[in-house]
Amino acid sequence: MSNSTRDNHDVFGKCYQPTKADELREFQRYVIFRVFDSGQTPEVVVGGRRMILLGSNNYLGLSFHAQVKEAARLALEKYGTGCAGSRYLNGNLDLHERLERRLAGFFGKEAAVVASTGYQSNLGTIACLLNRGEVVITDKLDHASILDGCRMSLGSMVRYRHNDMDDLERLLKQYSDRAKLIVVDGVFSMEGDLVNLPPVIDLAKRYGTRVMVDDAHGIGVLGERGRGTVEHYGLLEEVDLITGTLSKSLAGIGGFVAGQARVVEWIKHASRPQMFSASLPPATTAGVIAALEVIDSRPGLRKRLWDNRQRLKQGLNDLGYDTGQTQSPIIPVIIGNEPLMLKFVVELAEKGVFCNPVGSPAVPRGREMIRTSVMAEHTREQMDRVVEAFKEVGLENGLIN
Ligand code: PMP
Repeated sequence: MSNSTRDNHDVFGKCYQPTKADELREFQRYVIFRVFDSGQTPEVVVGGRRMILLGSNNYLGLSFHAQVKEAARLALEKYGTGCAGSRYLNGNLDLHERLERRLAGFFGKEAAVVASTGYQSNLGTIACLLNRGEVVITDKLDHASILDGCRMSLGSMVRYRHNDMDDLERLLKQYSDRAKLIVVDGVFSMEGDLVNLPPVIDLAKRYGTRVMVDDAHGIGVLGERGRGTVEHYGLLEEVDLITGTLSKSLAGIGGFVAGQARVVEWIKHASRPQMFSASLPPATTAGVIAALEVIDSRPGLRKRLWDNRQRLKQGLNDLGYDTGQTQSPIIPVIIGNEPLMLKFVVELAEKGVFCNPVGSPAVPRGREMIRTSVMAEHTREQMDRVVEAFKEVGLENGLIN
């Protein structure tokens, strides 16, 4: 088909209409898909410019930790680059099974199963657990992968207002005669606040409901031993399923779900993203096992992460910025309108600070924010340089005084 036939009868027609991306490029506000010439280190080179990276989920800096890299290198030599198939058939390595045993032990659960991404893990877990007539109850700010898993399942999804326990109870009452699963994020990925887990567990017990926590941003970061948000609340035994990604503190790629052996066994055999997708690459798998070991052997990394977080948050608040309700190393700086938020991100980059722009639909309109996240390996001096850049850009734009 030639380009001249682009009309309503061509599915490609829409691609040739003006888009938001065209508009952003035209106004030099295209601050997504920026090209990194370096790894996820505290300082990076992006588009030829040296910047402090304040937009990575590599919270503990383990993607460039010597022990993690060495484990990945050895696995690469032994197994090659890929598994060329799904776990079911040819793609199941001793490394995958070792990682699953490690993850189960890490969270004190009977078993765990890994998938190729956290997204796929959530998708497959929710979809295969919910039958027709059953109900999945989610927080309105839960991650997109949870929403998509609910859509893929045969059950119905209902949502309660963010962290609003009265609203959650209303839904639990309304569906009291149905089999139910509550699914929440541990750390909400844009606002950086935590699920109000103790009352969620109380309500779940009262209404006979299972609970799943997606702790993508909490693992390695929260809790006495870095087990995450659920450990932070002392509720590891009470939560039925813990899911998460291997791509943030665990420095690789992949996802997992941990829980009762029989339930994990079910997911392993029924999750379609498990069944129809190739398994984790060997180097990544070995790297994640090493990352779990580093989390146990180097608790000081977590302390440094939180020191950096405190220093940055305090600096931003002293300047007068609204950082919302964050309780984690994700610190949102609420700007409240999209054009200004994008201008801010561009100007911060010009001053050598890389931050992520967040607008609708990731957050509601009026809540547009610059999402910052710190790493253990940042220095105090880097945190101070970031605060200085926020000061200059904020003053120039009349956002602070
Ligand atoms: N859940 C949450 C809360 C996340 O933030 C993310 C990643 N942004 C995911 C799940 C998906 O994880 P992955 O990147 O491994 O697919």
